[in-house]
Amino acid sequence: MDIATRLIHTGATVEPVAGALSVPLYHASTYAQPSVDSFGRWDYARSGNPTRHALEEAIAGLEGGNVACAFGSGMAATSSTLLLFKPGDHLIVCDDVYGGTFRVLTRLFSQWGLSVTFVDATCTANIAAAILPTTKGLFLESPSNPLLKIIDLRAAAELARERGLLTIVDNTFMTPYFQRPLELGCDIVIESGTKFLNGHSDVICGFAVTADPELGERLRFVQNAFGAVLGPHDSWLTLRGLRTLKVRMEASQQGAVAIANWLAGHPRVKHVWYPGLPSHPGHEIHRSQASGPGAVLSFELDSFELTKRLLEGVKLMAFAVSLGGVESILSYPARMSHAAMPPEERALRGISDSLVRLSVGLESPDDLIEELDRLLLG
Ligand SMILES: *Cc1c(COP(=O)(O)O)cnc(C)c1O
Repeated sequence: MDIATRLIHTGATVEPVAGALSVPLYHASTYAQPSVDSFGRWDYARSGNPTRHALEEAIAGLEGGNVACAFGSGMAATSSTLLLFKPGDHLIVCDDVYGGTFRVLTRLFSQWGLSVTFVDATCTANIAAAILPTTKGLFLESPSNPLLKIIDLRAAAELARERGLLTIVDNTFMTPYFQRPLELGCDIVIESGTKFLNGHSDVICGFAVTADPELGERLRFVQNAFGAVLGPHDSWLTLRGLRTLKVRMEASQQGAVAIANWLAGHPRVKHVWYPGLPSHPGHEIHRSQASGPGAVLSFELDSFELTKRLLEGVKLMAFAVSLGGVESILSYPARMSHAAMPPEERALRGISDSLVRLSVGLESPDDLIEELDRLLLG
């Protein structure tokens, strides 16, 4: 079935008592057991909750996986997935990885003996050159944050498979609506459901998904043992948000295309990063692995003063951390998503003090352009 149909029908069973078309919200931590010899399907809600399960089924179906584990945040999904590795293992990570992922790797997992090499993964040869005898996995993001760099996910996954490495992809910016890394040969997909999947700026949640039954079992084990699970209420809200993913992604993307083109022609904009622009170096590769460029773009202005005026002057757009909501959000990577990165590291990655990231929401693109036009003039 097409993803549009799967969005509506996966994980949605008609509820048996009343025939409700909405999955009930099971606010339960434990379940009565019928006998000493055989426990029922549910025993304790850290291990399983029917509302969370419906959401996990929906996400697994959308990503083309068998197992999806829902976590209390995107970072909980990432950290729990990293627990599949052991002290002494080495990972190769794309260099402009999400700031929180950079932080957890360099400040926590490093203490635990997991080592990392950051590479510009837009060139597969750079990944190959960084492989050590102890390397066990790749951790990638495409498009990356905030410079929307594109990694050839098929080529990276093929290299990883040849060398016996796991490929993990953070697919938050694309969602399974536009890109399904498992279908490109990757092993595990991470999603921060906080962003587009839930889409209403009212839940923090995350997912790890795989099509491999053995990896799925190991992820389930970590989910239950480490315990960073998503609660039933947030599961319910995310399931509700997910049903409109198609219309939200399509409308936001349409706005992003219009705004990216408008910004690209503006005299005070030094550069626009958006995989939907033919001038983007990853445009062709992105088109070969995703069905759309998405709704996030970044741009650099010609001065810090103008950047400050824009960020502090917006009324329609929110100046905030995060992305993927129904409302447009302007964020400032140097002080927000990448604040956890030392300034030298940020500079090396091209994240300047005049760089702004825009997540386009569902407002009229004309109104958004009018606001940008007002603040960028003068
Ligand atoms: C927000 C984000 C995360 C972390 O998700 P949380 O739900 O905030 O923990 C990870 N990766 C990317 C690309 C993100 O945008």
